[in-house]
Amino acid sequence: MRNEYNLGVGCRMDSKRKTGTQSLIVLLAILPLAFSLTNKGDAQRMPIVAEGKSLARVVTHEQPSPIVEGAASLLVEYIRRSTGVTLEKVNDAAAPVQGMASIHCGSTKLVQGLKLKTEKMDKDGFVIAFPSASSIVLTGPTDLSVEYAVYDFLERYVGVRWLFPGAVGEHVPTLKSLSVPAVEVRQEPAFRHRLFSGLGKEEKPESRGEQGLWAKRNRMHDRLQFHHNLWSLYLPEKYTATHPEFFPMIGGKRFLPVPAEGKTSAQDVHAQVSWQPCFTAPGGIEEAVKNICEHFEKNPSVDSYSFGINDSNDYCTCDTCTAKDGGGKNVLGVRNISQSYYSWCNAVATGVNARFPDKVFGLLAYNGSYSPPQGFKLNPHVVPMMTYDRMKWADTSHEATGHALTELWGKSASVVGWYDYIYGGQFYLAPRVYFHQMEEYLRYGYDHNVRYY
Ligand SMILES: [Zn+2]
Repeated sequence: MRNEYNLGVGCRMDSKRKTGTQSLIVLLAILPLAFSLTNKGDAQRMPIVAEGKSLARVVTHEQPSPIVEGAASLLVEYIRRSTGVTLEKVNDAAAPVQGMASIHCGSTKLVQGLKLKTEKMDKDGFVIAFPSASSIVLTGPTDLSVEYAVYDFLERYVGVRWLFPGAVGEHVPTLKSLSVPAVEVRQEPAFRHRLFSGLGKEEKPESRGEQGLWAKRNRMHDRLQFHHNLWSLYLPEKYTATHPEFFPMIGGKRFLPVPAEGKTSAQDVHAQVSWQPCFTAPGGIEEAVKNICEHFEKNPSVDSYSFGINDSNDYCTCDTCTAKDGGGKNVLGVRNISQSYYSWCNAVATGVNARFPDKVFGLLAYNGSYSPPQGFKLNPHVVPMMTYDRMKWADTSHEATGHALTELWGKSASVVGWYDYIYGGQFYLAPRVYFHQMEEYLRYGYDHNVRYY
């Protein structure tokens, strides 16, 4: 077996350069765990299919979740498409059959009795284990991680590739026989959050479509709320009458957004978000803490909340905000709000964490909040997503500036995220994918504590 350079969940790179399409998976999914696997020599191989004959069954728990059931069915389906052989799918209660291996998907009775330590893994980590000469285990700490184990199995051993969305981007090689080396695979994603815009949210499978499905097969996973959101934290229809001080002073006057309710034009919707809250308003922090705690009470499975500023440069210019921020501009030439804004973020995070200690808060380091604050660090539960088009790093002067800012943020935040602009958007007709450059900068990011992308 060749030496391999392992790139985290679903990503492998041979020591030679990959072709462009192969690299797509490497670049768009996840990044390097950056450990080298040594030559495994002649590991014992477990036969699954031999010359048109099934030598294995797929086993699930007696009552598997729909996700695990779906993952087991997917495994059967793709092995059939590759080899023409349909593996039997059974549950725990089925008696073993002599001469047939068992491929356990998820937490079967056998798996429950093994000490695989998956509970200590990242939620998206997974294990492919070989506990005996006749059993293979595909499992992880969550149902989704079992699905990831199946995707990895299909890529790694069958050679399936999901290169781009739709049937035309899928490659399923034709195999006469299928056997796998009995060497444990244990992976955790280098980047906790892996997503780019426009591919659909995987929480809504009914609306996922081909692009969302492709993203899921490549283990993209939206795990942090960080986008424009403060308009919904201080809803104008709720607060303009009772707490006008939550809204910004612009041009010497209090700006009170027009409620969007009942309005339909794009202009009216925009009016809802074309402002920023006053971050030094009396009572503003307490009200934010109260609202976010209510949100988590109503949505206990949600583990993050977005502090993302609205998509506007209409920042508050009241006396207290100006005194705190200094009234100057940042490196983007935009009014610098980092002192008032990040002080507000820290206070709100501390308030919410007093009741919900595990919740985290993503945000956009963007426009007025682009630069790290001076003189204090972010609360460790606050994750800044640095916004930048890193394709510009092809120009080494931009790269040097970007590296410097990333490293500066690394001193201000416990963990950093990167928001990128690779998805196309209004300026580009299609996603821009420069394999080697992206590989290089994502590796750099990982080395500099970027864990959300
Ligand atoms: Zn203010």
